[in-house]
Amino acid sequence: MSSIPPEDIWKAVLGEMELSLSRAHFTTWFKNTSIVSRDSNSVTVSVPNGFVKEWLENKFNRQILASVRKLCNEIREVRYIVGQPKPEPARQDISKIIIEKEFQEQSAVDQSQEIDKVTHLNKKYSFDSFIVGSSNELAFACAQSVAANPGKNYNPLFIYGGVGLGKTHLIQSIGNKLLTDVPERKVLYTSGEKLTSIIVEAIRNRTIEDIKSVYSRLDLLVIDDIQFIAGKDKTQEVVFTIFNELHNHNKQVVCTSDRPPKAIPAIEERLQSRLEGGMLVDINMPDFETRLAILKQKSVERSSPLTDEVLSYIATHIQKNVRELEGALNRVIALAQIYNRPPDLKEVKNILTAYLSVPYRKTSPQAILKTVADFYNISSADLTKRSRKKEVVKPRQVAMFLLREEIKLSFPEIGQKLGGRDHSTVIHACEKIKKEEGIDEPLKNELTMIRQRIYDSFEHSG
Ligand code: ADP
Ligand code: MG
Repeated sequence: MSSIPPEDIWKAVLGEMELSLSRAHFTTWFKNTSIVSRDSNSVTVSVPNGFVKEWLENKFNRQILASVRKLCNEIREVRYIVGQPKPEPARQDISKIIIEKEFQEQSAVDQSQEIDKVTHLNKKYSFDSFIVGSSNELAFACAQSVAANPGKNYNPLFIYGGVGLGKTHLIQSIGNKLLTDVPERKVLYTSGEKLTSIIVEAIRNRTIEDIKSVYSRLDLLVIDDIQFIAGKDKTQEVVFTIFNELHNHNKQVVCTSDRPPKAIPAIEERLQSRLEGGMLVDINMPDFETRLAILKQKSVERSSPLTDEVLSYIATHIQKNVRELEGALNRVIALAQIYNRPPDLKEVKNILTAYLSVPYRKTSPQAILKTVADFYNISSADLTKRSRKKEVVKPRQVAMFLLREEIKLSFPEIGQKLGGRDHSTVIHACEKIKKEEGIDEPLKNELTMIRQRIYDSFEHSG
């Protein structure tokens, strides 16, 4: 048995976990944990509550064990015990319990998500569980058509729209359907981000030709969130080659993005036109009826009977995206489970206040500048530089406009924030963008997306 003190082992584990998780997650799962005992082939870790215990056991155990074994190879098992007695739930703790329950629900959902090791598809997504309304019917029809005749009708199929609107659900459904029909088909689901890292690594290891040939032999290649390859020249080059190979052999490509190909910054022209060369279709927030149908279906799936009044209250008030709709529903279902009966409208209103209260829209000049720069794939410093290049002039004008519109800075203040520009330059920029916003559809969409990000990042950090 190695002589490393248990607390040092745990410190090392925490160090590794911290690197692999976001700060928020790390704090949630690893705060107030410690090793309490150790014998020849196991260690026991004390955790603050049953909920963390379950989570560590189910989600992180393998990683924790691997990390422990780097220091003490003889350890075969990590046990978790709840260290502090769980306080009796007081009435005022109800919202805390609900949040715990929500997490448990979510972890149950995560566990039921079987990600196939070969295709990387998640079996839970199917056309059957997708509710169709006017906001998504075209996207749905195209997805079905592609699933019925891959490589024939729309190639590539490119679905775009905001977060949480069902893009991933739809394209995964295509993959699953293709495999249900013909299990021998070669299908691969990946994301722009993952593909980029695979390609970068393959270039480094000189295995890029192998990668190209593996991808080129697929029957269906699905790339989720392809916007992440913006600015990655090498990746784009490889993706372009793969697309051509697949296209030439009538093999299907399906992509999603948060915006149309034209609005993806720093993307090679030939790749952009390849992406536009098949079928472009957008997906939007479902209308009230569709939202209600989604809620009904999901509450049935979860066998939690909620009243129509409650469901339509949720459908009326949650309008951001389907993911948030599900989040609100989860919260209400958790409440129903605690009470062991469907909650009434007043209780539901209460529990959903956090979702419903529109927070005072607050942001900062820095956040705006950073969001604009990120969106256009330039650096914040480019915004303040003297350059008159087309790639920076427009983002700079957009930044000026948003500083004015969103936080009402004065024109001289804006000029100063953007590298000491004259206030008349700022006025000109603001007027120009304002005017164009009214007539230029792509610009309007860009502004919407930038605003959404500005407030999204604020909500997440605050
Ligand atoms: P996106 O990829 O566009 O960000 P997702 O496909 O991840 O969105 O959808 C978010 C969640 O909402 C998923 O759980 C998905 O199953 C669900 N969802 C979205 N649209 C629908 C729909 N029309 N019917 C049923 N569930 C939906
Ligand atoms: Mg998605």
